[in-house]
Amino acid sequence: ALSDKLARLVKEMRGQARITESNVQDMLREVRMALLEADVALPVVRDFIARVKEKALGQEVVGSLKPGQALVGIVNRELAATMGEGQAQLNLNVQPPAVILMAGLQGAGKTTTTAKIARLLREKFKKKVLTVSGDVYRPAAIEQLKTVTAQAGAEWFPSTPEQKPLEIAQAALDYAKKHFFDVLIVDTAGRLAIDEVLMAEIQSLHAALNPAETLFVVDAMQGQDAINTAKAFSEALPLTGIVLTKLDGDSRGGAALSVRHITGAPIKFAGVSEKIDGIEIFDAERHAGRILGMGDIVALVEQVSAGVDMDAAQKLAQKVKSGDGFDLNDFLMQLQQMKQMGGLSSLMEKLPGELAAKAGQVDMNRVEKDVRRKEGIICSMTPRERRNPQLIKAQRKKRIAAGAGVQVQEVNRLLKEFEQMQGMMKQMKGGGMMKMMKKLGG
Ligand code: GDP
Ligand code: MG
Repeated sequence: ALSDKLARLVKEMRGQARITESNVQDMLREVRMALLEADVALPVVRDFIARVKEKALGQEVVGSLKPGQALVGIVNRELAATMGEGQAQLNLNVQPPAVILMAGLQGAGKTTTTAKIARLLREKFKKKVLTVSGDVYRPAAIEQLKTVTAQAGAEWFPSTPEQKPLEIAQAALDYAKKHFFDVLIVDTAGRLAIDEVLMAEIQSLHAALNPAETLFVVDAMQGQDAINTAKAFSEALPLTGIVLTKLDGDSRGGAALSVRHITGAPIKFAGVSEKIDGIEIFDAERHAGRILGMGDIVALVEQVSAGVDMDAAQKLAQKVKSGDGFDLNDFLMQLQQMKQMGGLSSLMEKLPGELAAKAGQVDMNRVEKDVRRKEGIICSMTPRERRNPQLIKAQRKKRIAAGAGVQVQEVNRLLKEFEQMQGMMKQMKGGGMMKMMKKLGG
């Protein structure tokens, strides 16, 4: 899978302190593939990759992150930023009724989304909402809006195929004003493809209605084609937002990036089912992960950035500071933290000098196995032995080895390692001890 490939590349890029032209090349190739597979339009992909490269090159890699991991972080952040940081809301702060004009190709989901938004505004924001259909070309479309508006618990303004869309819109607006509606949502005729006549019609609707929101509804499954549709609509109308529908399908939703890139308008909603409540506020960050199809790696980056279990680490630090002895229980906790991290190697590199040098030459699979064996050994000790390792003499060693299913030498090795670690902990406390001695000595 793609994420496996990326994971491998991330590994290969270990041990380099900077993102450079050469170490980033393979990684960017994979990201490019991921975007194309997600149906992001080619010019958008090119532009995006160039931007990421510019941001990434020469960037120093901080902390325990590796260049590959840092790059994934940059890609993900840039992707999310391109699709709109944070969450965009509808802007209905106008003299009521605020008009929402729905635009988009036939089948994109305009009528369905009209009802979804009506319900959302009614239920969440207690708005009084009126809907009207300007789709006079398909009689069934007017009926469809009537049905779904009823499901939304909003009011529907009747129209007929004999009327002109502009007439209908005017009548609905007058009605909405007279009856103190907060919002009027105007559903429009679909077009199968970009059509001059229909485009002129929606332009005249826009001019007459002066909408607070002009939403471009686009099918996420439309893929590469979305860019042309978006271009035509954004040239014809000042779009204020995008609704990306059918995200419940298995498309990776690359259209979001293309459409956002072309129109510059924020993506405000995502359609996630055919049902009336199948609408969500668009979440750019979550969607970035979906487009790249590499949620695992992004999670790994976050995990490594966040480091170990903070609670446990703090407790341990507290213990060292307060001067309580570092015992085998603490040693066990350290081992368990390493395992938890998944990225064992990054923790190893935080170890001081000689240990870190050793860690650099070690095969991580072997280390993980080794950690499990050590855990087994410590778990075969009694609580008293763990608190007082000096109690562990020959007889006890034999018993512990038998319990853990290892040789006595391995128990010895573990105890030796523990002593080294304990020595390090004592050194860390050394600063405090010196001060105390000075105080006492005057
Ligand atoms: P319009 O021609 O733009 O008005 O499109 P419609 O609202 O009539 O929707 C076309 C089809 O897409 C209908 O069958 C809808 O039920 C379906 N649809 C709309 N939005 C979604 C969505 O978010 N998810 C799914 N699965 N289907 C949707
Ligand atoms: Mg429709």
